[in-house]
Amino acid sequence: MLQWLWCFGGALAGSAVTFWGIGGLLHHHFYRRQRANAAEWKLQPKRWLTPALERQAFWLGSLNLLIGSLGSGTFAWYLRRGGWSTIYYDVHRYGYAYLMLSIPLGFFAIDATLYYSHRLLHQRTLFRYVHRWHHRYVAPTVFTTTAMHPLEILTMMFCVTVPAFVLPMHVGVYIFLIIYTYFIGMLDHSGVRINWMLPFHRDNGFHDDHHVYFHCNYGHHTQLFDRFHGTARRLDRHYDEHTFGGRGATLSDPESLPKTASGISR
Ligand SMILES: [Zn+2]
Ligand SMILES: [Zn+2]
Repeated sequence: MLQWLWCFGGALAGSAVTFWGIGGLLHHHFYRRQRANAAEWKLQPKRWLTPALERQAFWLGSLNLLIGSLGSGTFAWYLRRGGWSTIYYDVHRYGYAYLMLSIPLGFFAIDATLYYSHRLLHQRTLFRYVHRWHHRYVAPTVFTTTAMHPLEILTMMFCVTVPAFVLPMHVGVYIFLIIYTYFIGMLDHSGVRINWMLPFHRDNGFHDDHHVYFHCNYGHHTQLFDRFHGTARRLDRHYDEHTFGGRGATLSDPESLPKTASGISR
């Protein structure tokens, strides 16, 4: 019991530092102090969440972090007790070549589970009852990263845990990939224009666009699966909340005209 409390406490502390700490500082700096200069830094300078939606995102995101910490703390406790998984602890076990190879393998394994589960969540019924919660935030902020239906946070946790039962990964590699996943999630939702030199995912406008156009750009770590499946947003197609399927509609189709304010392109 004490060991479990340590694992849960550690997970919660990590969440507190990143979500409330770093996330809070980032939010305060841009959304409070730099609000007047939004055109210089904001991906959607003319669109802001209402104070009510901001509060809702904060509390819902916090609740899900608590659920997430319970889940990840319990998983860490399970591993510490010697529970079965494909995570290994001795760096020499499969050699250094495999150790290096396992980084991109784990990276794409998590990217794949997150892409396909996200795409599934955009199926009509699941979207309406589950994933729509996360899509209430058309102009995402860092606190919307985990503001979603609790079922969705459980789905995401399942997605990042599955590779730990399939792919041999050193514990350090796995922890790095989990932190990376969380970090990218936060940057993707910050609403602040950020460019980086990461492979196949050069900026955070891709996921921000996902919140504007809904049924496209499902990828988390990369755009690779979207490019492969033709679900990356195309400028010659129309997208809105009601255009399901990931490939949009033809622009000339009158039925495809935006039906909600959120469907208006920026
Ligand atoms: Zn979505
Ligand atoms: Zn999102």
